[in-house]
Amino acid sequence: AHLDRIAAVDGAVHAFLHVDGERAVETAADIDRRRAAGEALGPLAGVPIAIKDVLVTKGMPSTSGSRILEGWIPPYDATPVTKVRAAGLVPLGKTNMDEFAMGSSTEHSAYGPTHNPWDLDRIPGGSGGGSAASVAAFEAPLALGSDTGGSIRQPAHVTGTVGVKPTYGAVSRYGSIALASSLDQIGPVTRTVLDAALLHDVIAGHDPLDSTSLNMAWPSMAEAVRRADVSGLRIGVITELDGEGFQPGVRQRFHEALELLERNGAEIVEVSAPHFEYSIAAYYLILPAEASSNLAKFDSVRFGLRVTPDGAGTVEQVMAATREAGFGPEVKRRIILGTYALSAGYYDAYYGSAQKVRTLVQRDFDAAFAKVDVLASPTAPTTAFKFGEKLADPVSMYLNDIATIPANLAGVPGISVPTGLAPEDGLPVGIQFLAPAREDARLYNVGGALE
Ligand code: GLN
Repeated sequence: AHLDRIAAVDGAVHAFLHVDGERAVETAADIDRRRAAGEALGPLAGVPIAIKDVLVTKGMPSTSGSRILEGWIPPYDATPVTKVRAAGLVPLGKTNMDEFAMGSSTEHSAYGPTHNPWDLDRIPGGSGGGSAASVAAFEAPLALGSDTGGSIRQPAHVTGTVGVKPTYGAVSRYGSIALASSLDQIGPVTRTVLDAALLHDVIAGHDPLDSTSLNMAWPSMAEAVRRADVSGLRIGVITELDGEGFQPGVRQRFHEALELLERNGAEIVEVSAPHFEYSIAAYYLILPAEASSNLAKFDSVRFGLRVTPDGAGTVEQVMAATREAGFGPEVKRRIILGTYALSAGYYDAYYGSAQKVRTLVQRDFDAAFAKVDVLASPTAPTTAFKFGEKLADPVSMYLNDIATIPANLAGVPGISVPTGLAPEDGLPVGIQFLAPAREDARLYNVGGALE
């Protein structure tokens, strides 16, 4: 049924870069056989899933939205993919994304944008617009995404889906094509909070192949949703993310959701996070610095594309020609920014200062979580914008991430849950909750209470 749905709508939505229907049908049939033979299978066995193209998949193309990886077939699976296969889920294919996960609209994909199923003239968010659109368009019931500055939560907000960025280190990033290693995290994109929790329980856990993977026992997120109870829960509304620059309908739905939680026994308090306003500036130094280093491996020798100028050339000429042809404008912009910020003489002024701001943002979280159990804000300032609206002005695109970036800088978990449609344009809106590191279950508790 999902393959039929993809055939019917993906020409218009373009959520997928690659669909492997044959293998999906074989995998599903195998699960049916195992179930018929009496094997005890997990709750998601047999359920189809879409996988963001940032995760490498054995025998299936993995481009991270870039021309430079066109045609590359990885020899292994990323750990989250290994885990979903082991749990009996059925991978349908790979979803579209901004090139190397840089963007908020999928307009930076080298393979053309994904369209928002709610309005095909609008963006589905980014960078994981393909995963969110596939779920919103009923092409897949579940998807995997990656969130470095909001790429799971913001697409969820603009497509009316649920998106979770787990605690930094909760889900292995082995086989996730790195954007910014101190910020990246893999997580679920789904239509309900319970679905997200069930998928979270499958993908989280220690992996010796990822040195940042947390080695701890996690409680069941699905249990947290099923037992959802917000009585006595202290919810802090972040003052700095609830005013100027936020669309009225986004704020209206946000406050309605808070009132609902209050009626169910939660206590709503105002909390200030005075350094959040500097987080975009810090992020757009730290991220390009790390990305410029991570992308150095695309050198025309090890993976994908190789362009040889005039049929010959030195190693450096081949490398330069390949990177010139293989990387899009946003990737080049960030490599230039990042190498500049890291260069001798500027390192302290830019990268060093950004790291200090990062510490201040972390302290804002510490101070806030001394007073409340979770924090709340709208997930993004506006509903889905139109294609082209922010493309010419990178800074206006970057400002869209104001509410989601602080969580990545501090490594704390976040969830975006749909709260209805904005009255002025009829487009989906999400509420974001943030919790202290390792307290992901609190997000599922409060998210579950809204379902
Ligand atoms: N929009 C942000 C950026 O462009 C977030 C990216 C992400 O989370 N991968 O960097």
